[in-house]
Amino acid sequence: MGLIFLGASEAQKRTQAPILAQGNIMRLIFLGPPGAGKGTQAAILAQELNIPHISTGDLLRSAIAQKTALGILAQAYLESGELVPDALIMAMMGKRLAEFDALGGWILDGFPRNLSQAQALDRLLQILGQSHPQAVNFNVATESLIARMLQQGRKDDNENLIRRRLEVYQEKTTPLINFYKQRRCLIDIDGNLTPEAVNQSIRAKLSLAVPV
Ligand code: AMP
Repeated sequence: MGLIFLGASEAQKRTQAPILAQGNIMRLIFLGPPGAGKGTQAAILAQELNIPHISTGDLLRSAIAQKTALGILAQAYLESGELVPDALIMAMMGKRLAEFDALGGWILDGFPRNLSQAQALDRLLQILGQSHPQAVNFNVATESLIARMLQQGRKDDNENLIRRRLEVYQEKTTPLINFYKQRRCLIDIDGNLTPEAVNQSIRAKLSLAVPV
């Protein structure tokens, strides 16, 4: 990437640096069970860092609302709390991560959801020439998760569906915690605190300056 600066003026270097300096680019994966508050935190931090908050759940719900082919294929999975097949998710994310606004970093919320998605994300980032992401893992007690989700009251969230989504998380998504831990790029966050305190703790652990 540095080669692109050969012969560039100081002014050009300064204008190009924010996009081209890979070291400064935040690529974050928010991991945690449904109801852990990662969507709220992803939205706050994405706004603070001026990078896109990419939620696969939101993308899928919007595809369902618009009755696209993807939406029609995905609907039954969302209604039963099961994972949408990896091939559909990877096609959707391959497109999303190649969009212009995603070149300068992102926060992924709800993806990857299993090991094969994490491996496919690695391959996708390699193709895009992007470095490994940092994972942020939200820890929240199970009973408060169920209470929070019932409180948020999306109309599709009855208690059975919530329990099934938690089971799917336990079974399919928790192996990702070790996957990213072994790579030494996992940060653990206590998600039981207030939203402001959780935001501060994420920023501190990512060594981001607190806004004044
Ligand atoms: P969320 O809003 O992230 O809780 O996702 C809602 C639902 O969308 C999940 O219960 C799954 O059915 C589906 N979904 C979201 N993200 C993924 C993903 N990465 N892989 C498979 N299914 C997903």
